[in-house]
Amino acid sequence: MKIFRLLSWTLAVLLGAVMAAPGEELQVVVAGRYHEPVTAYRAGGRTFINAKQAGELYGGQVYWYPISGRVQMTFRSRRLQFVAGSEQVLVDEKTARLEAPVMLRAAQAYVPLSFFLGPEFSALCGMESQFNERTRLLTIERHSNVGPVRWFSYQDHTRVVLELKRPLSYGAAARGLRGVEVTIPFGVIETPEQSSVGDGLVEDYVLRQDAKLARLTVRLAKPGLKWRVRELSDPRRLAVDVAVSDLPPAGPAEPSAPISAAAVAAEVGVSSVAAAPAGLPAGASRKRLIVIDPGHGGRDSGANGRRGTVEKDINLAAAKELAERLKEDDIFEVLLTRGDDTFIPLADRSRLANEAQADLFVSLHCNAARNRKENGFEVYFLSERASDPEAERLAQFENSSLELEGKSASDAEAALLLRAMTKTENINAASELAARVARALHKRVDFGNRGVKQAAFYVLRGTDAPAVLVEMAFLSNRRDEAKLESSRYRRRIIDGLYAGLIDHAKSQGWLQEGAPPRSRR
Ligand SMILES: [Zn+2]
Repeated sequence: MKIFRLLSWTLAVLLGAVMAAPGEELQVVVAGRYHEPVTAYRAGGRTFINAKQAGELYGGQVYWYPISGRVQMTFRSRRLQFVAGSEQVLVDEKTARLEAPVMLRAAQAYVPLSFFLGPEFSALCGMESQFNERTRLLTIERHSNVGPVRWFSYQDHTRVVLELKRPLSYGAAARGLRGVEVTIPFGVIETPEQSSVGDGLVEDYVLRQDAKLARLTVRLAKPGLKWRVRELSDPRRLAVDVAVSDLPPAGPAEPSAPISAAAVAAEVGVSSVAAAPAGLPAGASRKRLIVIDPGHGGRDSGANGRRGTVEKDINLAAAKELAERLKEDDIFEVLLTRGDDTFIPLADRSRLANEAQADLFVSLHCNAARNRKENGFEVYFLSERASDPEAERLAQFENSSLELEGKSASDAEAALLLRAMTKTENINAASELAARVARALHKRVDFGNRGVKQAAFYVLRGTDAPAVLVEMAFLSNRRDEAKLESSRYRRRIIDGLYAGLIDHAKSQGWLQEGAPPRSRR
């Protein structure tokens, strides 16, 4: 047995030396922040990572016994043991199988990365991880079942939403005259959150982790406001609604009488029944159509990130996420200019919006700059003249897709002059929309706010609706790129876009009670 093990170990050393490509440093993001990179090797199409570094990365105690080639990891009371050259791993007392034997390189053990990504390891260490093969980025998040929190100011009420990743019971109670406290036993939050809302109804909120529960405290702007807490489905979430007077009627499954604070307080400790889609302020007359345009696609991949993230992919993912979010409420209809990785000429994008009679048009993009320090978001609306040389350069880049269509820029110019359909009223509305989106984004993301700008974007020019183009962040910036890649962080960007759109809808009276339908063009 000993001899066999020694042989297989020697074999592993030899194989490792022959098959493995040179080592690489894998970038790692833990809970949204960069961590020291870990060493990895690729062999036989698989990625192996340094066992010691990996164990520490996931919060374990690691012991490496170089003589016997064993690696031991402990996570709280759970124990793992790997042996160099073996594809068996001991999990507590049970044996599990790795995708490939543990490899030795430079007197260190390397374990197939797939093991750390699997559900078994995830349950054991309480962390979840994802690996992007293309960008070689390893993302690790703590297991959580509660959060994040997001909030929106509607026409007549403010809603603070707490996401639930699985069914959990909750309690809600008044805290003093101006507080609402929601507790979720067994709730585990991803990260503590605190944010001021300051919209006249809600002052601020705090989400924090207590010993065996998650606690969301919403502070009201003044005493006497009405509030209620209920669970909504698809996605599962708790909504804390706050209003001056009676709250808008809930879906048919809800009691018809407005729920007072006292009635809600009686619910403490009781899980409520999931309700129908979120309450729409009564009388909102007809749905407005938002066309979301994920920039680039197909042979036009847009900007490239430092680690190989491709703009067209991020744009599409964000567009789909924003569409999902907009569908949660019964206010908007949503149409995407592309739902997959196909090339769509710029003119077809605006044509689609025009034929569908879009009320708003939002084009999503990612920025890139030669200076890798540039970071943050920008919101553009159309103008013949760029607001600055940078904006001009960007418009040229985003318009360069025209060349892939086999059109020269001057052909396009001529076509535009003929069309000349951009109305001043649309430009005015677009500048307001851009400002609202920028303001809402600014409150929710932690990268730079580069403000509202103007430039001659072709895709905005052909659209007969208020149209904005959002450069969500810089793919050329290391931190921004990681944020754009992380679906969890993207959610904050999506929240900002969503809140900006809601704010705009409110300003247009689209959410107002009994507002007459706007006449169609
Ligand atoms: Zn772009």
